[in-house]
Amino acid sequence: MENIKEGWFRETCALWPGQALSLQVESVLYHQRSKFQDVMVFKSKTYGNVLVLDGVIQCTERDEFSYQEMIANLPLCSHPNPKKVLIIGGGDGGVLREVIKHRSVESVVQCEIDEDVINVSKKFLPEMAKGFFSPKLTLNVGDGFEFMKQNQDAFDVIITDSSDPVGPAESLFKESYYQLMKTALRDGGILCCQGECQWLHLDLIKEMRTFCKSLFPVVDYAYCTIPTYPSGQIGFMLCSKNPETNFRQPERQLTSEEVESMKLKYYNSEIHRAAFVLPEFARKVLSEA
Ligand code: SAM
Repeated sequence: MENIKEGWFRETCALWPGQALSLQVESVLYHQRSKFQDVMVFKSKTYGNVLVLDGVIQCTERDEFSYQEMIANLPLCSHPNPKKVLIIGGGDGGVLREVIKHRSVESVVQCEIDEDVINVSKKFLPEMAKGFFSPKLTLNVGDGFEFMKQNQDAFDVIITDSSDPVGPAESLFKESYYQLMKTALRDGGILCCQGECQWLHLDLIKEMRTFCKSLFPVVDYAYCTIPTYPSGQIGFMLCSKNPETNFRQPERQLTSEEVESMKLKYYNSEIHRAAFVLPEFARKVLSEA
């Protein structure tokens, strides 16, 4: 395992040149090549179990809640009554766990390309993967881009929890995929996609925002903090078919009792509003898009 040396895992990638994150390893729990990618799980010294695909950290037990709660609740709380939800990717199960906490959600379809990721997560990341046992779920194993072509006017919310745009997830960052999502959404539907990092990928985010604005009347970009993603942050691209949507003011505000009963540790209505306030360097570039 060339990315583990002297007891430390080191994450390097051409998408974030010249920087690396290291986590101390206690033991490697799983390491196999699936049909699509290199899949590894290790037990870390201070971040719990860690899922790594093609050398890139996907989630750790210690900080996953930040990303999963935000990518699920930003769109769900921006929709007045989300009933049918589609998740693309998300093989660790964390986004699904958050989506099914919403009482209005009657059914969830999930399409993950790699069955090995689901099975490994059930075994080594049980707190994330528990949603896979929900009766609301219909699970498809297949390519999210191809799956999207088969759906028209079908979902209130679509969440794309994909890995980075190299390897199997490359197509999920393209304009043609956003066009397919638009068709798959019902009237008033909302989508939220993993939107990379403003410190690293501002050009890509700008390009995506530009094509999103050509497709949807409302487009916005938010982010959360998370220690184990590159540069400690990750963003979300949000689009709505409803011209009245204002992502910056949640349509449904969660009471503190709801935040408590849903066991939320990152998301609340204040952080929802704050997540759209960008630092000046990013605000400026994205406002030109
Ligand atoms: N939150 C993580 C991040 O930002 O890096 C992503 C977590 S989740 C494990 C990503 C999942 O997307 C992986 O399980 C991967 O197999 C899946 N995936 C990648 N390309 C896909 C595609 N074309 N269709 C469906 N799922 C895909």
